[in-house]
Amino acid sequence: MRLAGWGNYPRLECRVAAPDDVRKLAAAIDPAGTIARGLGRSYGDPALLERGVVLETTGLDRILAFDDATGRLTCEAGLSLAAILETFAPRGWLPRVTPGTKYVTVGGCIANDVHGKAHHADGSFSAHVEGFELLLASGETVWVDREHDPALFWASVGGMGLTGILLRVTMRLRRVETTYFRQKAIVVRDLDALLAGILEHDASHPYSVAWIDPLATGTSLGRGVLTVGDHATLDDLPPKLRAAPLRVSGRPAVSVPFELPELALNPLTLRMLNAAIGRVQAGAAPVVHYEGFFYPLDKIGQWNRGYGARGFTQYQFVVPLGEAARLRGLLEMIAKGGQLPFLNVLKKLGPQGPGHLSFPFEGWTFAIDFPIAPGLAELLRALDRAVIEAGGRVYLGKDAFLGPESMAPMYPRLGEWREIKARVDPKGVFRSALSDRVGLT
Ligand SMILES: Cc1cc2nc3c(=O)[nH]c(=O)nc-3n(C[C@H](O)[C@H](O)[C@H](O)COP(=O)(O)OP(=O)(O)OC[C@H]3O[C@@H](n4cnc5c(N)ncnc54)[C@H](O)[C@@H]3O)c2cc1C
Repeated sequence: MRLAGWGNYPRLECRVAAPDDVRKLAAAIDPAGTIARGLGRSYGDPALLERGVVLETTGLDRILAFDDATGRLTCEAGLSLAAILETFAPRGWLPRVTPGTKYVTVGGCIANDVHGKAHHADGSFSAHVEGFELLLASGETVWVDREHDPALFWASVGGMGLTGILLRVTMRLRRVETTYFRQKAIVVRDLDALLAGILEHDASHPYSVAWIDPLATGTSLGRGVLTVGDHATLDDLPPKLRAAPLRVSGRPAVSVPFELPELALNPLTLRMLNAAIGRVQAGAAPVVHYEGFFYPLDKIGQWNRGYGARGFTQYQFVVPLGEAARLRGLLEMIAKGGQLPFLNVLKKLGPQGPGHLSFPFEGWTFAIDFPIAPGLAELLRALDRAVIEAGGRVYLGKDAFLGPESMAPMYPRLGEWREIKARVDPKGVFRSALSDRVGLT
């Protein structure tokens, strides 16, 4: 079937198997090439493969054990964060780290070592994973954690599914009094004010995220809205919410039924959309449900179709904290790049974790959507060079364009990762369109 990531670019003809137990999954491994796929929320091609097989893991989604005293959960890796929320939020437990959509699997979150809005306080997803069972290319199943083969553990965290297939995971959830958040929106006039605002609120607020007006340049560059927040306690809730403090959300209320015509993507709609986003962000309610706080985009099902049939990509990079001037340069390149920069997020990430190919390190990260259009690849290539000059890197979980020459400068622990890959998968069974493209396989 024709398969794509969330960006609908690239779309590749893939052979897909959807096993519902481990035996069938192991039997479906194709020595010529195999890659696991979760819910396909990576934007580009890490869960695609043309010659070989794509193994959908969402049929392996059982909850195996839960300790209500510690929040320790053992589940199959195909379980989604949406299912975890549905089951455990009413009992007062939330995932400790979540990306901006709940329609992701635990396996996908480990393979991309995803980060959330509280990376500076909580680290990335792997920080809360105790261990996992991995199906190796040899057919052997091994349990890995920080004591049992730590090198394989850290090569698999952020390892893009290339060390083996995650079967079972033990991780910790977070105890909460309510499923609501306190938040505060701060309107900022330029980049200096934004970065200063983030640094000022960092210690007092675990959650922090900013939106900038991607069309603002010159002295207005970086104007936008910074939103900071924390978990709401029962006392923080207004009386009308106190009756159901652990409320869970339902399915998306609306959905984009088909790919919208590309006419919808033009400088006018871009300006209108950004003005609307700015207003919504600035007027944020002081107490908000996790759905609005973590997953505002999940409210519109299949919103990716809004970018039309050609699809889109998200370019996400991180540069060191001391490189604010280069961050400014990168934002200027994006604003003046002749493309249509749509949704965006700017955050400060906390210290780097031990995952060999894990994306986050302490610095400024910016993510921005671009519809696929002529000239985009050239702009992204120029941005890649500027990111490397700044000592930064691009996030593979969003990427669809990076070339092999960029991997070593962006990911200095690549050599260590390659050693583990050669040990556990010497014949290169686990590969993907992304791994072939960037030279990981
Ligand atoms: C709206 C939106 C917001 C997002 N926000 C963020 C964010 O804030 N932070 C962030 O870090 N990311 C974010 N992402 C990206 C997303 O969290 C990651 O791409 C995540 O990995 C997707 O999980 P998935 O289950 O869909 O995995 P897929 O996209 O299907 O696969 C991703 C990778 O995981 C591997 N994989 C999946 N399952 C297994 C398994 N069982 N064993 C081994 N490997 C496996 C695949 O091979 C692939 O390499 C966002 C994505 C969207 C669409």
